[in-house]
Amino acid sequence: MEFSSKILERAVNEMSQLPGIGKRTALRLVLHLLKQPVDQTTFLSQALVAMREDVKFCESCNNISDSEVCEICSNPKRDHALVCVVEDIRDVMAIENTRQFKGIYHVLGGKISPIDGVGPGQLKIAALVDKVKSGKVHELIFALSPTMEGDTTNFYIYKQISDFGIITSAIARGIAVGDELEYADEVTLGRSILQRVPFENSFGNH
Ligand SMILES: [Zn+2]
Repeated sequence: MEFSSKILERAVNEMSQLPGIGKRTALRLVLHLLKQPVDQTTFLSQALVAMREDVKFCESCNNISDSEVCEICSNPKRDHALVCVVEDIRDVMAIENTRQFKGIYHVLGGKISPIDGVGPGQLKIAALVDKVKSGKVHELIFALSPTMEGDTTNFYIYKQISDFGIITSAIARGIAVGDELEYADEVTLGRSILQRVPFENSFGNH
């Protein structure tokens, strides 16, 4: 792609670093911004910089938050002894949308996936095990997507906490096997949480 402007080229190159954005799409977006009032580009840039510099990870549950402790963890009306283990913020958002869950979350930040080079050490598993050891957890609900990586991660965690005498459950498989949690509809997902099953019984369904 030959550019008549180095400045334009730089903007296109930066934009095309985003996933799913090729050079042509990047050029279209950049030309779009060029036609809009300069404010729009300013707000976009400021929002991105603020997101990158100011967003925090809740020190209790690891969810993305504006404060040291997120709104869910700092809400006294939530059941802090009921902890739902999820992969990332999209799962928290999906479950919160169901309005069926009154506990708190623990966000792992991914799933164990040797193919992608993600081992247990890269996830917030140790913090979760510590939380269970501290005696503050009554029940742990595994709500990772029912994929092979999700199952591997669940089982890895389960092995580490099974001696501490807490209740472990898994969301009911109203969610089709292999589906990602964030795409499940709210009614199905809400029901899956309410009708959760003992973790041991969640094996062998697929
Ligand atoms: Zn939190």
